[in-house]
Amino acid sequence: MTAPAGAFDARTPRLVGSAGKARGGPLLLATAAIHGNEPAGVHALRRVFAALEASRAELRGRFVGLIGNRGALLAGQRFRDSDMNRLWSQRKLAELAAGDPAADTAEQQEQRELLAAIEAELAAAPSDVVHVDLHSTSGDSPPFIVQNGDARSLELAHGLGLPVLHGLHKNLEGTVLEFGTARGFACIVVEGGQNEAESTIEHHESALWLLLHSTGLLKDEPRFELARHRERIARSTSGIPAAVEICLRYAIEPGEQFTMLPGFKSFERVAQGQLLAFGGAGGRREIRSPMGGILVMPRYQGQGQDGFFLARSGARGG
Ligand SMILES: [Zn+2]
Repeated sequence: MTAPAGAFDARTPRLVGSAGKARGGPLLLATAAIHGNEPAGVHALRRVFAALEASRAELRGRFVGLIGNRGALLAGQRFRDSDMNRLWSQRKLAELAAGDPAADTAEQQEQRELLAAIEAELAAAPSDVVHVDLHSTSGDSPPFIVQNGDARSLELAHGLGLPVLHGLHKNLEGTVLEFGTARGFACIVVEGGQNEAESTIEHHESALWLLLHSTGLLKDEPRFELARHRERIARSTSGIPAAVEICLRYAIEPGEQFTMLPGFKSFERVAQGQLLAFGGAGGRREIRSPMGGILVMPRYQGQGQDGFFLARSGARGG
């Protein structure tokens, strides 16, 4: 089964679903499609909300799912004017707050609307907030987690049984994680797999069910099949280190023509000196790996400045 075509149109609301009551327990806030070419998280949220409704489950807290970059999702593009996952530093948020909405870029307008929806939830919520941001990658990848290194987020991340990527925030400024960290949330990014793969929707679905349980919103009952979700995650990540640390980001220069060699998969091992991509102004300069290590998130899409990342097994913390 593949994701339904034409699943999004002008009537698609930003709110994918909500369940439970704000004062009953923690708030689990899920965002998806902050990158518009990553629809899998939205499909997963739709499935989980539909299943929750059908089961008439009583949640101990509140669960909310929101679309991030609605306009780009409808257009099937990563973004329209600029990457919406680089707008969440304190400086950019202050700029947005002080700016005239009439002068917003497409993504600033999206961010303004998303923030309003989040703030409305926070106004009613107790202090215990968990934020999960659902993403996917242009190249083949097993599911994994990105986090900021604080103890609670890390505990949440390892509890899901997915490989945990450390140190990405030192290489990227303004991701959604910065927002959650500044506000004192436990926050993780789940990278579910390749953008269009059906298995990516399933990985997100399993991660959401396990989070509903680990945050205390949902009891472990046979009807929720939590064991099946744990097994699915274990199968999809077998042979992958539990933690890897980012050592290097290949930043694509403005005007550079970057082409990754075909066939690389995230978490694949590469050798020092191995040809990874072509770049430079003419797109012919060889880009070789400066180290032996683990390749993460090779770029197989036209947009964005991150060519690829190189990581080492294990985590030095942070
Ligand atoms: Zn993304």
